[in-house]
Amino acid sequence: MKEVKSPKRPLIYYYGIVLLALLIFNLIVAPMLSSSQIVEVDYGTFMSMIENQEIDSVEITDTQIYFTDTDTDNTTVYTTGLMQDATLTERLYEAGATFTSEIEETTSPVLTILLSVVLPLVIFVALGQYMSKKLTEQMGKNSMSFGMGKSNAKVYVESTAGIRFDDVAGEEEAKESLAEIVDYLHNPDKYTQVGASMPKGLLLVGPPGTGKTMLAKAVAGEANVPFFSISGSEFVEMFVGMGASKVRDLFKQAKEKAPCIVFIDEIDAIGKKRDSQLGGNDEREQTLNQLLTEMDGFEGNNGVIILAATNRPESLDPALTRPGRFDRRVPVELPDLQGREAILKVHAKKIKAADDVDYHTIARMASGASGAELANIVNEAALRAVRNNRTVVTQADLEESIEVVIAGYQKKNAVLSDQEKKVVAYHEIGHALVAALQTHSAPVQKITIIPRTSGALGYTMQVEQGDKYLLTKQELENKIATYTGGRAAEELVFGEITTGASNDIEQATKLARAMITRYGMSEDFDMVALETVNNQYLGGDTSLACSADTQNEIDRKVIDLVRTQHRKALDILSQHREKLDELSLYLYEKETITGEEFMEILNREA
Ligand code: ADP
Ligand code: ZN
Repeated sequence: MKEVKSPKRPLIYYYGIVLLALLIFNLIVAPMLSSSQIVEVDYGTFMSMIENQEIDSVEITDTQIYFTDTDTDNTTVYTTGLMQDATLTERLYEAGATFTSEIEETTSPVLTILLSVVLPLVIFVALGQYMSKKLTEQMGKNSMSFGMGKSNAKVYVESTAGIRFDDVAGEEEAKESLAEIVDYLHNPDKYTQVGASMPKGLLLVGPPGTGKTMLAKAVAGEANVPFFSISGSEFVEMFVGMGASKVRDLFKQAKEKAPCIVFIDEIDAIGKKRDSQLGGNDEREQTLNQLLTEMDGFEGNNGVIILAATNRPESLDPALTRPGRFDRRVPVELPDLQGREAILKVHAKKIKAADDVDYHTIARMASGASGAELANIVNEAALRAVRNNRTVVTQADLEESIEVVIAGYQKKNAVLSDQEKKVVAYHEIGHALVAALQTHSAPVQKITIIPRTSGALGYTMQVEQGDKYLLTKQELENKIATYTGGRAAEELVFGEITTGASNDIEQATKLARAMITRYGMSEDFDMVALETVNNQYLGGDTSLACSADTQNEIDRKVIDLVRTQHRKALDILSQHREKLDELSLYLYEKETITGEEFMEILNREA
C-alpha cells in the first residue's frame, strides 16, 4: 500500500496546544501588558492611607476601588473592595488625592478583562477553526487513509494542475465523446432541464499505451474536479478479503466529493465474466457484485462519473456493460499517421529539437507504434543526442531511435564472418527487391545489415505511404511474397538455406492463415469464419472454430498459398539477378543504404 501517511494527531493534541498558549498568555503576557502591578489591600489600609495623605489618584468602579500611592511613581496600583462610605469623596478631597481624568478613562480593569478573557477566547476559536479546516483538508488529501479510511483510492490529480485535452494528441474521436462529460460537469443543469441523464460509466477500450489513463485525467483536468484513481488489480491483489469493502469506501468518498471522476484502470481484473465453475474466484466475484450494486445505487445525475479502462473488453462480464452501468464505450485506438505525427510533436516540445526535423517522415517510419512507444522514441532520441555531446536532437537521432525501439541497440562488437555478412546482405536485398518489383508493394525506407541486440542481423524497413485501412487479396499475397524474398535470394545465390528466415516464416504463415480462416479469401471456404480472435488488443491470438477435417484442409491451403508466393519471389529474383548482385554488393560494402539509394541503383540502366 502506497499511502502517504501523515502522522496521526488526535484532536486533543491541538486543544492541548491552545490551552498551553492561553496559560502562557495569562501568566506572562497579560501582566506585561498592563504596565503596573496590582496589589490587593484591605479597606482599613486604604482608609489609613487617606489619613496619612499617601493617596495619589483614585478610581471607583461598581465593585472595586483602584488607587495609587504618592511615593511609587504609579507603578503599583492598589485595589480594595467597595464599602458603603458616604464621606469617602470628601475625605479623599481633603487628603489631596487627584481624580485625574486620565486614570478614570483608562478603565484598566475593562481592558484587562478584554485582554485576558475575550482575546484568548477569540484566538481559541480562530485556532480551533483553522485546525479543523486543516484536518479536513488533510483527510481529503490522503483520502481516508487518515483515521477511518480503508480504501486506497487517493485524490490523484490536483484538478487545476492536471492534464488537459491538448496534452493528448490525436484520438480526436475519443476526445469528442469525453468533451460531453466535461460539459456536463461544468453545467449539469443544462442536462437535467431536458431530463437527460449522463451515463454513469464510460469504458475506454484500446491497446496498451494509447493514452487511456491520460484521457481520463484530462477529463478531470478540463472539468476541474477531483480525480480518484484505482487499478482493478489493486482491488483483487492488495486487499485480499476486502475487495468489496474497498469498492464501498471508494464510492462513499466519491459521493462526498461529487462532482468528481472515478477512474478504474484494468477493470478486467475485477470485471471478468463470472462463470458457473464451482470454486470460482469468490473474492473477485464479491468485488464485482459490490461494484454492480454501487453503480445501481446512485442516480445518473449525482455528478460521479466513472471511467474505466481495459484492453480486453471481450472478457468483461455482460452485467457490467449493460445500459445503466458502463453503457458507453470509447474506443482508443492505435494512432494513425496524422495522430502519430501529432503525438511526436507533443512530446518533442519537452526536448530541444533542431528546426529542420521532419516529424511526418518519422511518423511514417514508426507505423504501428502506440503513443507510449512514440514518447519513448522521442526520449531515446534525446538520450542519443546527449551521448553524442550535442545540445539539440536531430533527425538522425529520431530515426536511429525508431530502430532502437523496433530492433534494439546496434550490437557494436558482434563480428559476422565475411560469408555471413554476404548472406545477410543478399537476404535483405531479396526482401527489398521483391517488395519493390511488385507494383503494389510499398517502397523501402532503409536497409541495414548492422546486427541489433534484438538478434536481428539486418532488416528492411518498409514504409507505407499513408495509412491503409483495406488491403486487397493481391496486396496480401505480395506481402507474403516479400516475406519469402529473403530466403529466396539465399537459395538462388548460395544454393543453401540458413536459419535467418525464421521470423519471415512466422509472419508469412500468420498472414496466409488469416487470409484463409478470417478474411474469406479462399474459394473453397467462402465467407465462413474458421477462427475467432480472442483479444484483438493484446497480440490477437486466435482459436479455431472448425472440425478436425477442416483443420487439415486449412493447413494444406496455407502451405499452398505460401509456396505459390515463394515461387513467385524466386521468379522475380532470378529475372533480376544482376540487380540483386549489384545491390547486395553495394549493401555489403556500405552496411546501411537508404530507400533512395536503393531505387536509384534499381532504376539505373545497366
Ligand atoms: P494506457 O492507459 O492506454 O495504457 P497511458 O495513458 O498510460 O496509456 O499512456 C502512457 C504514456 O504514453 C503517456 O504517459 C504519454 O506519455 C504517452 N501517450 C500515449 N498516448 C498519447 C497521446 N495520444 N498523446 C500524447 N502522449 C501519449
Ligand atoms: Zn528476412
